[in-house]
Amino acid sequence: MNKQTIRDVDWNGKRALVRVDFNVPLDDEGNVSDDTRIRESLPTIRYLLEHGASVVLMSHLGRPQKAKSEEEKIRKFSLKPAAERLFELLPEASIVHKTRAISGEAAEAAVRNLLPGAVLLLENTRFDDREEANDPTMAEELARLGDVYVNDAFGSAHRAHASTEGVAHHLPAVAGFLMEKELNFLQGTLENPEKPFVTIIGGAKISDKIGVIENLLGDVDALLIGGGMANTFLAAKGYDMADSLVEQDSIDLARTLMQKAAAANVDLILPVDAVIADAFSADAQRQTVAVDAIPGGWRMLDIGPDTVVHYADVVRNAKTVIWNGPMGVFEMEPFAAGTRAIAQAMAEATDNGATTVIGGGDSVAAIEQAGLADKVSHVSTGGGASLELLEGKILPGVAVLNDK
Ligand code: ADP
Ligand code: MG
Repeated sequence: MNKQTIRDVDWNGKRALVRVDFNVPLDDEGNVSDDTRIRESLPTIRYLLEHGASVVLMSHLGRPQKAKSEEEKIRKFSLKPAAERLFELLPEASIVHKTRAISGEAAEAAVRNLLPGAVLLLENTRFDDREEANDPTMAEELARLGDVYVNDAFGSAHRAHASTEGVAHHLPAVAGFLMEKELNFLQGTLENPEKPFVTIIGGAKISDKIGVIENLLGDVDALLIGGGMANTFLAAKGYDMADSLVEQDSIDLARTLMQKAAAANVDLILPVDAVIADAFSADAQRQTVAVDAIPGGWRMLDIGPDTVVHYADVVRNAKTVIWNGPMGVFEMEPFAAGTRAIAQAMAEATDNGATTVIGGGDSVAAIEQAGLADKVSHVSTGGGASLELLEGKILPGVAVLNDK
């Protein structure tokens, strides 16, 4: 990675202003129901504390603009539950404070007397309308709260907001460990993949993934297509997909992508069989057929067993695998087998020494559901951000960090 990290700073006596991603789910009682994102930020926070810094944390949580009243805004979107969870996870910090302030006088007062070893969590940055507008006055106010800015919120790095981008123009700015890990695995893997390099692309729509496919076509040896988007490719090849989700206005595009793949010597592989259903429902009638034999009224909701055998084989023999997008409607158990089998093949490839990376919100949920998240090299914490990296885009929250 060509950006400075927290290792490149002498932290002694400094105040670190750290953008974390504490955008965690809350249950009905307002407690953190999944603290993964908080735990992922601990290595960075601990490093800063151990090296003599005090730490000021900022994050957004959800979309507070949607709240209908001030009371609802605080109840559903305050970072207080995250602060409490952090307090439990970080007993070695001398003090963990929380404040209702985000920036300005009250926040400056809260940080003023922060001693090395102490942590302060500011309130939800999106409580301030200037955050998402990347308002320069907010960025300047935030910058007064620290000596050095650290971005460890990979999942927000594709957004140019005051706390993810604007503030970095006013302070020395470096990456935290989570940010570094995500960039190394996603960007680093793309820049220097060990061959054979295989990508698996699925999910609902081809239109969501055009950028990813086009960016990867130059580098991969094989591109395995699954999920709803496979239907559009199959339709482009002339198959009758019956009631399957097909994006009619992307059929030409699918054809073009297949031509580009052929010209680039990339094996673009499509399903040969399908699990089909007579309704979009977990208790629909279902059967397995070849992709050229889908009866009227039926729809493809998962890749079939012959496809699974072939795809799993390609994955197991790869040295680098990147996966984005489920192979079927994995949220419904009868259509989860294809996705689960790919997750299993990823785990086996990892065992064989391959680098295996998963990005995308639903894909990550799928591998967690399969219980295999810790059996692959890297599971990205950032849905949108990881997709934009796979599309070859530069993330604004990364671009603004100091170069090595
Ligand atoms: P990610 O979040 O990993 O990038 P996407 O959002 O692109 O993935 O796609 C995930 C969605 O695609 C899931 O909700 C899944 O149900 C849906 N999907 C997968 N296969 C099909 C299919 N054959 N028909 C309809 N929807 C599908
Ligand atoms: Mg998704």
